[in-house]
Amino acid sequence: MLAQLGEEAKLLAGGQSLIPLMKLRFANPSHLVDLNFVPGTTYIKEENGALRFGALTRHTEIEKSAIAAGVPIIHDCAAGIADVQIRNRGTIGGSLAEADPSGDWATVLLTQKTELHCLSPRGERMIPLPEFITDAYTTALDHDELVREVVVKVPEKGSGGAYLAFKRSAPVYPTASAAVQLTMEGEVCKDAAIVLGCVGLMPVRAKEAEAALRGRSIDGKALAGAMEAAHAAADPQPDMRGSAEYKRSLVAALVKRAIEVAVQRARGQRVEVSHIYA
Ligand SMILES: Cc1cc2nc3c(=O)[nH]c(=O)nc-3n(C[C@H](O)[C@H](O)[C@H](O)COP(=O)(O)OP(=O)(O)OC[C@H]3O[C@@H](n4cnc5c(N)ncnc54)[C@H](O)[C@@H]3O)c2cc1C
Repeated sequence: MLAQLGEEAKLLAGGQSLIPLMKLRFANPSHLVDLNFVPGTTYIKEENGALRFGALTRHTEIEKSAIAAGVPIIHDCAAGIADVQIRNRGTIGGSLAEADPSGDWATVLLTQKTELHCLSPRGERMIPLPEFITDAYTTALDHDELVREVVVKVPEKGSGGAYLAFKRSAPVYPTASAAVQLTMEGEVCKDAAIVLGCVGLMPVRAKEAEAALRGRSIDGKALAGAMEAAHAAADPQPDMRGSAEYKRSLVAALVKRAIEVAVQRARGQRVEVSHIYA
């Protein structure tokens, strides 16, 4: 249908980004192609060492899923998105396709090995998440192509992750957020992935912050190094949520807290976290 209706037609999933944009007249599609009636688009399963999410899987279904809870950073993300009404409608596929720089899913899933299986009249192709989001609100999808499935490799043993955001209230996007996935070998950090949210036009991969942890034990000095590097990597816009400097300091503090939780989880401890509200 997308191919027949042309470039002005748009897919409708949960409608939690598209409908507000249409109400504001920022989006004015000629047609809406509603995915909600397509069977077999909502599921969460674990297969061959990967979690597989149907594109129409709602945030709330992921929040409540015992399978998804096996990768705690995924649960952190789903449980913290907006409020329950939005989580009941919004979908993982719609969220990634929207590529909103303030959206939570891309920030979190960029710390994982994530690929999107995308479908068009030309067949199916797999796009790794880092190549999928090409700019703010822009993806590698063709106009007649949709996200069918999101596939996340289960992190190796000894790995732990955490996602923390700072929000003014539940139904708003975060002011800043930090996603951290660490692989520990005893006291030493073998590998680290750190992605910062809401502090750039796209999620920011904080490579220097990762380097500050890799091959070291996570002591005060390593934490300070990661915080400093995250502060430097952030490139936020000042807006009603805060000045650029405020957001830089905030994201550095979130990185520190997320690292501390990730280390505990990598050691097998069960640690519940929730976003921090002003
Ligand atoms: C008040 C409010 C607060 C919010 N707060 C947060 C927040 O804190 N964190 C957060 O992450 N999100 C937040 N959201 C957004 C929410 O998570 C949305 O669910 C999400 O961004 C879009 O998902 P959707 O399924 O609703 O997509 P839709 O709104 O239906 O679609 C969004 C875009 O993606 C396209 N699309 C949808 N599905 C597909 C697909 N399968 N393949 C290709 N293209 C597709 C559509 O054509 C459209 O362009 C908030 C929304 C609102 C209204």
